[in-house]
Amino acid sequence: MGMAFSRALALVLLTGLIGCASPASDDQSVADGPEKTLSPEAQAFQEQCDDNIARLEQGLVTLENLAPPFTVDSVLNPLNDFQILLYDSASRTGLYEAVHPDADLRDVAGKCTAAYSDIGTRLSLSRPLYEAVAAVDVGSAEPDTQRFHHVTLQGFRLSGVDRDKKTREKIRALNDRITKLGQAFDKNILEDVRYIEVSPQELEGLPEDYIAGKPVGENGKVRISTRYVDTIPVYTYAHSDELRRELRQQDRSRAYPENEQILEDLLSARHELAQTLGFDTFADLVTADKMTGSAGRAQSFIDDFHDLVQPAARRDLDRLLAELKTLDPDATQVERWQAMFLEERIRREQYDVDAAKMRQYFPYRKVRDGLFDLVSHLFGVTIRPWDTDTWHPAVEAYEMYEGDKLIARFYMDMHPREGKYQHAAAFSTQVGIRDRQLPISTLVCNFAGGNNPDDVMEFSEVRTFLHEFGHLLHALFGGQQRWAALSGIATEWDFAEAPSQMLEEWMYDKATLQSFAINAEGEPIPDDLVERLDAARQFGEGLTGNLQIFYSALSLTYHNQDPATFDLMDRMLELEAHYSPMPHQDDTYFYANLGHLNGYSAIYYTYMWSKVIALDLFSEFAEQGLRNRELAQRYRKAILEPGGSKPAATLIEDFLGRPYSMAAFARSLGVSPAGAGPVE
Ligand SMILES: [Zn+2]
Repeated sequence: MGMAFSRALALVLLTGLIGCASPASDDQSVADGPEKTLSPEAQAFQEQCDDNIARLEQGLVTLENLAPPFTVDSVLNPLNDFQILLYDSASRTGLYEAVHPDADLRDVAGKCTAAYSDIGTRLSLSRPLYEAVAAVDVGSAEPDTQRFHHVTLQGFRLSGVDRDKKTREKIRALNDRITKLGQAFDKNILEDVRYIEVSPQELEGLPEDYIAGKPVGENGKVRISTRYVDTIPVYTYAHSDELRRELRQQDRSRAYPENEQILEDLLSARHELAQTLGFDTFADLVTADKMTGSAGRAQSFIDDFHDLVQPAARRDLDRLLAELKTLDPDATQVERWQAMFLEERIRREQYDVDAAKMRQYFPYRKVRDGLFDLVSHLFGVTIRPWDTDTWHPAVEAYEMYEGDKLIARFYMDMHPREGKYQHAAAFSTQVGIRDRQLPISTLVCNFAGGNNPDDVMEFSEVRTFLHEFGHLLHALFGGQQRWAALSGIATEWDFAEAPSQMLEEWMYDKATLQSFAINAEGEPIPDDLVERLDAARQFGEGLTGNLQIFYSALSLTYHNQDPATFDLMDRMLELEAHYSPMPHQDDTYFYANLGHLNGYSAIYYTYMWSKVIALDLFSEFAEQGLRNRELAQRYRKAILEPGGSKPAATLIEDFLGRPYSMAAFARSLGVSPAGAGPVE
């Protein structure tokens, strides 16, 4: 999930030593809050936050005044202690900022987050600390200590700590400018909600409950917004071609023209930062510590992926055109605003998969219990309720045991409420450190089923549940490291979506699904429906992959050239013509409203990169059995438990016994894997 990923990793960025992307905030003390009286809970939280900041400030002074000899004990251990405190403080505030029911407390938490973030930036630019770390000889240390040392130094250098004072000041100012431009870019997207007004007849084809929620105004028209709650149903169900076209035109023009100049400035500032740090482009800087390692390798991945996905996308498109011709015999091409509508028709008519009819099999509590059973079965753990206080009565709390040994804890905040974060994400809550503190994570979702055990989930929500649980397991099983900076999901960003996307595959497994997908009459989901689901899923994957790779190319290319040398629109149209099988929709400005251009900068490709790896890892299960406990334990040991203590490519090779390749992904598209070599 997009937000899930960016939230989870924002934390790594925030608290790790990846200074190039760390926000540098204004020097605002948390204590200088608004004059109004805070709720007692918010007041207590603020005091705790001020306490932590004081301890961290003191810790930073201590780290900057370390005296030789510089050793693992005298430098790396205190740095680790400092990072544990910083990570735990920042994760707790990040979580509360997103989910706490007390609005005062959410505000306080937001300010704390900015303060912790600034401490992270200062750590990453601390010259004395850098010199002390660089002087530590880890030649005879354990491999994980060597890795920690390597990753820490790399983070320092990518932050520019080894530059002269004047350059460091320039870097800090550029980072500050980048943060502010990014915030302005995001804010414009968030706030620019557009509306169209159409006659009620235009709503033909939309679900009855949707139409019922659209009152006719005094002018005899209904208003439709560019929010998801309107766009998804309209694109999927509206019979009116003109309605879909017009809404998409508005949707894809949001934040235009304001964001055009902001994006140009953002790209320029990033380019200048990269050049200041000795890189050709920002894409090279931001990939330096990823699996790809360079913009060139990311670009060749994009092109290889495109070559593979293109035949499948063409095949999908031919089917859409055939379907369109049943409605309009003169049609010669499928337009962007027609794709979702035609896909839904094909799924319903040719695969008999009706999302509305499937929901009965997915009551929230059965799904949850079924997922717990699956995880217990595969990994030999038990999950028991944890009797503890939480921030809201609806929050569930659990403990994970291996035999009699308590190994992890987690919260699940699964249902919507006013003021709560609206996407799905796994939030780190306490970093797991071997023999010292348990890993704690929190799943935050927005599923139905809060009060009524009969409330049912959408099939797509079950998929989200599995996805986020994949992140959770990575954090929990990986939370037995000695070094906080290597614990759990603290791995390369472009690997982090692999365990989550892999777990999604179990939702197409008949045995797994039938163990919990049971309706109110006690009937499990029928065999033939599971089979149709599996058949239907391949359809559309080509076009989806093709779209994702166009976004990836856009994000990389914008950051891989001097922004003074190209026009945003011209470059987007060139890439769209090359990567996308459908024509550009006139009068749309996608670059102005693709929020990932801020959050992900050059590396949107990470979704598809992780997906290729996820399917490669899953191919072992497909071959040896989805309920194979021995294999699951091997997966846990090789992939999840090491966290970031080894490069991700090594973890994958440890598990597969070979380097990863694109073959499994090619098979998933139904195209020949011939020529699908390693992901290089
Ligand atoms: Zn994710």
